Amino acid sequence: MQALSDFFFHLYAKTIVLLVFLLIELIILVRNLKTHTPPMTISQYLQLIEEKTPTVCFTRTLNMADQQECRVCLSELQEGDKVRTLKCKHTFHQECLDRWLLQFWATCPLCRNRVLPEDVVTDYQRLRNQRELIIFPFWESSED
Ligand SMILES: [Zn+2]
Ligand SMILES: [Zn+2]
Repeated sequence: MQALSDFFFHLYAKTIVLLVFLLIELIILVRNLKTHTPPMTISQYLQLIEEKTPTVCFTRTLNMADQQECRVCLSELQEGDKVRTLKCKHTFHQECLDRWLLQFWATCPLCRNRVLPEDVVTDYQRLRNQRELIIFPFWESSED
């Protein structure tokens, strides 16, 4: 009789241990799920920009708004330059525009039309504020 109750006691104890173990596993799993919605990274943000406004080679025929210069760096747009044309038809050097969009709000430098959805921008701004990023050390060095 004693042996039998010992057996059940052990079984009970083992079950408790197993349940606690499972519970811990579950908590870890839930935590991982929560942290698995990470804030947007800079490369993701740039990828979104690329999706919305793909980089193209500048040609005179593409120049719908008859723009002569990139209004970010104020230099003339040359045939073959890598550019992005926004929905508002404003064209900028790809590098200049990306820098602008990362540094400021994701709007057209000329007409302030929104380039990316607002939630994307808010998410990105949150990331920037969190990390106090100095994103573009090459901001100065690109003057050539
Ligand atoms: Zn430019
Ligand atoms: Zn514009």
